[in-house]
Amino acid sequence: MKKFYVNENCIGCGLCASICPEVFEMGGDELAHARDEVISDNLEGAEEAKRSCPVDAIDDIEE
Ligand code: SF4
Repeated sequence: MKKFYVNENCIGCGLCASICPEVFEMGGDELAHARDEVISDNLEGAEEAKRSCPVDAIDDIEE
């Protein structure tokens, strides 16, 4: 299963949460956070959000 992480580059623009709210949400710290589980239905959206991040702040690992 693939997991997504938001790294320290995040500038809190909100784009990922707007593209794929199933996986990314904005926290009280005004930075994005990724949910732990990415079910296959959400994978494409999460990949698109990763590609769209303007500061390359989304990483993923295969587990
Ligand atoms: S798109 Fe990138 S910079 Fe913008 S909120 Fe998401 S992780 Fe942060």
